[in-house]
Amino acid sequence: MQYRCPKCQSSKLMPVAQGNGARPDVPKSLITLIFSLFLLLLLVISSIVMWIFSNGAGTNLQIATVIVFVITVGSGFMFWRDLPKFKQSMQTFMRSQKAWKCRDCQHQWQN
Ligand SMILES: [Zn+2]
Repeated sequence: MQYRCPKCQSSKLMPVAQGNGARPDVPKSLITLIFSLFLLLLLVISSIVMWIFSNGAGTNLQIATVIVFVITVGSGFMFWRDLPKFKQSMQTFMRSQKAWKCRDCQHQWQN
């Protein structure tokens, strides 16, 4: 099993959708983590904007930032716990995946 393009040796591979192929089991904590990180970034940016253009971030915004920060840390910890399982399911997926496409040269092949 190779994870490189047989034509150009690129590692930028993309699985080609198969009807019966196993899907990797994405843990809910990863989705929560990505979502809360995005939200945190948004809140931090708006806080900075508030600090620059007015007299500091409002109390509500500060509370929201703290809450989202706690959620981010919590989901980060949950994801860290889910990580071995997630890795396992990704590996299973990689092994069961037969059809690949190279993103560099568009070459498609079967393993
Ligand atoms: Zn290629």
